[in-house]
Amino acid sequence: MSWGFERGRIYNRRADIHGRFNGQQRGGIVTPADHAVVIIFTGEEGEAHGYTDQWRDDGVFEYFGEGQIGDMVMQKGNRAIADHAVHGKSILLFKIRPTGVEYGGEMICEGYQTRRAPDRSGNMRDAFVFELRPFDNVTAIVDDTLPVIASLEGLRIRAFAAANATPSKIASTATVFERSRDIRDYVVARGNGRCEGCSNAAPFLRSNGVPYLEPHHIRRLSDGGPDDPRFVIALCPNCHRRVHSGADGSSYNGLLLRKMTAIEVG
Ligand SMILES: [Zn+2]
Ligand SMILES: [Zn+2]
Repeated sequence: MSWGFERGRIYNRRADIHGRFNGQQRGGIVTPADHAVVIIFTGEEGEAHGYTDQWRDDGVFEYFGEGQIGDMVMQKGNRAIADHAVHGKSILLFKIRPTGVEYGGEMICEGYQTRRAPDRSGNMRDAFVFELRPFDNVTAIVDDTLPVIASLEGLRIRAFAAANATPSKIASTATVFERSRDIRDYVVARGNGRCEGCSNAAPFLRSNGVPYLEPHHIRRLSDGGPDDPRFVIALCPNCHRRVHSGADGSSYNGLLLRKMTAIEVG
């Protein structure tokens, strides 16, 4: 889900972004108060300051945090990027173009490094470099892996650990893929072969014998990536399409949220 933005299309920052979400009109990281999004901008401005956001060969986009003078601090926009998954927020990337801002897609933060880089005055300081990966890639990879059969309690412990893992400074083996998979495996196992929305049996089995259910992130418009298992529900394909495409999708989502408080207590 792209929040209605089309990848590659040019938008007007003031009208299309602030007109819709409010949020800080200046700066590279926008954290609207009333919407579950973190909007980030990348462009030529960074180069003038001596650093550049860039794509790495492994598919990660390196994004410099905010803070123009002195060491960067893990607060405000930087904190919003690092913790977006924990708070159920989508990161939307826009590239600054001469004619406006181009939508580059939804991203997931895998972690961050601290790197020495010049600040606006040319003095070396500690800068945060966030490691972002396109959301679609995460969803595709997670969807292709089959759940490992284990005890529900074991899966639950792993899922909550994955949800609470905040991106670390050191590259961690617990990548966003693994965290997403842990949460999906647990939620599907929790469903115990039945849709947690309509209570009907899963319509068919996967090739490994596990009932087919889809994880839906109740707090977000988009699925995939880590989130708190208390806000991820196992749905049959019918219920899932109803939430995303149905006329009553948002009220149905509200109903699911109420159901979840009974399913996942505490
Ligand atoms: Zn259902
Ligand atoms: Zn969904």
